[in-house]
Amino acid sequence: MQYKSFLIKYAEIGVKGKNRFMFEDALVTQIRHALKDIDGDFMVVKESGRIYATAESEYDFDEAVETLKRIFGIAAICPMVQVDDNGYEDLKKQVLAYVDEVYEDKNFTFKVNARRGNKKYPVNSDQINRDLGEVILDAFPETKVDVHHPEVMLHVEVRNRINIYSIVIPGPGGMPVGTNGKAMLLLSGGIDSPVAGYMISKRGVKIDAVYFHAPPYTSERAKQKVVDLAKLVSRYSGPVHLHIVNFTDIQLYIYDQCPHEELTIIMRRYMMRIAERLAVDAGAQALITGESIGQVASQTMQSLAATDAACTMPVFRPVIGFDKQEIVDVAEKIGTYETSVLPFEDCCTIFVAKHPVTKPNLKMIERSEEKLKEKIDEMVETAINTVEKVWC
Ligand code: ATP
Ligand code: MG
Repeated sequence: MQYKSFLIKYAEIGVKGKNRFMFEDALVTQIRHALKDIDGDFMVVKESGRIYATAESEYDFDEAVETLKRIFGIAAICPMVQVDDNGYEDLKKQVLAYVDEVYEDKNFTFKVNARRGNKKYPVNSDQINRDLGEVILDAFPETKVDVHHPEVMLHVEVRNRINIYSIVIPGPGGMPVGTNGKAMLLLSGGIDSPVAGYMISKRGVKIDAVYFHAPPYTSERAKQKVVDLAKLVSRYSGPVHLHIVNFTDIQLYIYDQCPHEELTIIMRRYMMRIAERLAVDAGAQALITGESIGQVASQTMQSLAATDAACTMPVFRPVIGFDKQEIVDVAEKIGTYETSVLPFEDCCTIFVAKHPVTKPNLKMIERSEEKLKEKIDEMVETAINTVEKVWC
């Protein structure tokens, strides 16, 4: 069966009162944008609390479904047949044709669930349920009715036209991207930060990203890996503006001036400061990192507090309470894992001390940072002014 249309259901945004139109429009925009990338033309429209995507050319069903399954805000994707209202007898014929084509094996239990959006339709929904049930049982004697736990729930929605569908594919949930502001993701080449970006984006937040690159200590291939990860995240979040910061001079300067066991924490504090500046310029309201309590020395409670103290914007850490395996599970689900585990060094591993402090004292860290006074502000400005931007 080549379905021509999809009925797209959304959950959370249905309850948003006055904001509902804004949410629906954002969802329509995201759907249009995503479907543009696949072969085939679609018309996406909003019509009395429903979103329809209708193919206007040949298209690949699986590709379309996979694409829709990545759009936050979608609760369910229902491949649907839409027919004109040519009278009740014709509706019965159309429903039989649908059942015949969609279910090769007729050995199933079913229930008809009719809804009459158009109250002028001459038959009420209870009657439609009974009549359609009867014609299906007559035409396909292997079928059985089960009103409590049917294997097939056949939806018949009578509106200006009539929607017939029975297949409900779960969407990703969440809220449409762009309905909840914007945040700057600190994206490294690891497993955790792409997952963190995905999770915040799922709540409707648009995402920009920043990567701290330290050539020649980190290679072009490491940078390319981050670009690839940003592209993978963008399949869910929509286009990501990736800011690549050349961090080498700052890192070397910290290395020269500060105690080596404090390198990581001081470096991370400068990452946060620069990320915050870029976030302000990009109109973002928060930062996102892939930190999880206790995962490494720079992620103890004390280290997280010292990192936080370097910036004033809220820092979202959506995987903070996840075990590594739980993060890996999400990374596999969203398709970033394989790229994340490619073995290219990231800038933190080059400059790690043998015994990094695990309980940094903020006063001591600030004292160490005093040693950077002479050049650091200028270096930060240079880093910001020489950012390379890539659309992913
Ligand atoms: P990930 O798997 O995301 O790389 P990680 O376990 O390697 O995380 P860290 O290296 O301590 O942890 O980094 C913690 C967080 O800091 C990362 O999740 C990311 O948000 C940010 N981060 C670390 N290095 C960089 C970098 N080079 N560029 C941008 N962000 C970074
Ligand atoms: Mg990392």
